[in-house]
Amino acid sequence: MRLNAKQIAACTGGSFIVDPLDSRSLATGLTWDSRDVKPGDVYVALPGERVDGHDFVGASLRAGAIVALVMQPLDEAARLLAREMGAAVIEVPDTAHAVSDLAREWRAHLHGRVIALTGSTGKTTTKNLVRAVLASAYSVVATAGNQNNELGVPKTLLSAEPETEMVVVEMGMRGAGQIADLCDYVRPDWGLVVNVGESHIELLGSRENIACAKAELLCALPEGSGRAFVNADDDFADFMRVHARLDARQVETVLFDGSERAASRHAGAGAEESAPPAVWAERIELDEQGRPRFEVHAAGFAPEEEAVSCTLNLRGLHNVGNACAAAAVGRAAGIPLARCAEALAEAEPEAGRQEVIAARGGFTVVNDAYNANPDSMRASLSTFCALDVPGRHVAVLGDMGELGDFAPACHAGIGTFAATLSLDRLVCVGELAMYIADAAERAGMDPARIVRAGSISEVFGDLDTCVEPGDAVLVKASHFMGFERVVEGLVN
Ligand code: ATP
Ligand code: MG
Repeated sequence: MRLNAKQIAACTGGSFIVDPLDSRSLATGLTWDSRDVKPGDVYVALPGERVDGHDFVGASLRAGAIVALVMQPLDEAARLLAREMGAAVIEVPDTAHAVSDLAREWRAHLHGRVIALTGSTGKTTTKNLVRAVLASAYSVVATAGNQNNELGVPKTLLSAEPETEMVVVEMGMRGAGQIADLCDYVRPDWGLVVNVGESHIELLGSRENIACAKAELLCALPEGSGRAFVNADDDFADFMRVHARLDARQVETVLFDGSERAASRHAGAGAEESAPPAVWAERIELDEQGRPRFEVHAAGFAPEEEAVSCTLNLRGLHNVGNACAAAAVGRAAGIPLARCAEALAEAEPEAGRQEVIAARGGFTVVNDAYNANPDSMRASLSTFCALDVPGRHVAVLGDMGELGDFAPACHAGIGTFAATLSLDRLVCVGELAMYIADAAERAGMDPARIVRAGSISEVFGDLDTCVEPGDAVLVKASHFMGFERVVEGLVN
């Protein structure tokens, strides 16, 4: 960003507590963490549950912030310090809201294409793949890590330059209306819905409501020039297309499909009422590490149908769909399919998402402790069982959060699914995970292979006696379960 103190005060509805020494100085970055302040930044004082950002205004000014946004009067010492440093202090009605006000203002300065992406599962992974593909031909700014909420989204926009050619914005949501609120100032040119699953069903009540919430992104695309990238393998693809009135509003729908059904769907067999995908996968196979190799096909971008082979450095069949989504965006942006495939092959996995670690005890740990919902749990279990190891497959599964009344059924569904896989041991930890264990047993899994652990320390006790060199251990649960501790305990 490049905004001066006056512009910042004007767009946030703020008033100066301390005037800037030089009103022409441009703020070039923004942070709410005083430890990250770089010279030229705007520091935003957010009131937190444990710490109040207002206590760190002084530290931020000393670190070089040229504007501080606050929502309560500052003490005399901080005001003196601001004057001494030549920095401006602006009081606004709500500092969190001010961050999106700034992004709304800055959006008007961006000349590049803004691509927003949402979905139930795989947003960050797909965002990384989209970034990799686009970066092979354009200057790109994309969401850092997983910063996909009402602070991270504006921060992403603010980190783009007017000349940045492609801005890729991951959008998360927990309820209806949130994506629409983000889109109100992000004003995406293109939108991508990775999939419609079951996460956050607690707040939304049904998958149809989840699809409507995701479709808010598609509803926000500009009439005539917008492009909507939709997963043809999703049972809500047509629903969203109709709901967002894409055809009526002349927003082009670009379907992608990374499933094994893609080839037949493309050939028109099966679902005649649906359009064929524009980018899809064929001849999908997994190597011994569970990394997909496949042919990516594209039609409708060049006179002839195109196909190239592609290998991913990410594990699991679900990543074929994520990769097809990224190739569809790349192809729509004019990048040759072969170059898209090369970029996809180089993309690296994020930590905590199916990360394969060699443990000191001679076994393998698959760290998927970053988060879990029913869709990612199923994807993770199938990928894990396809992992070729000399020993046994042990899955340590914990509770999945945010499922509300659906929690028992969703956990039981995982248990039933687990019973169909070649798992040698299923360790369930947590209150809800007991539904996984019970359902697995009901579905015929040998009870001797099922362990119900009361706590993480009990898991270590069990694994200590049973895990041998050559085995593989999957660790997966929702973030709140703190399963990184399980991974650390196993690896070290
Ligand atoms: P968050 O809601 O935390 O932002 P996210 O949607 O960004 O999550 P990722 O962080 O990309 O999702 O992936 C989380 C996990 O979901 C991964 O570890 C992987 O196992 C699984 N996953 C990724 N893509 C898919 C997919 N398309 N379908 C099912 N599971 C997936
Ligand atoms: Mg994410």
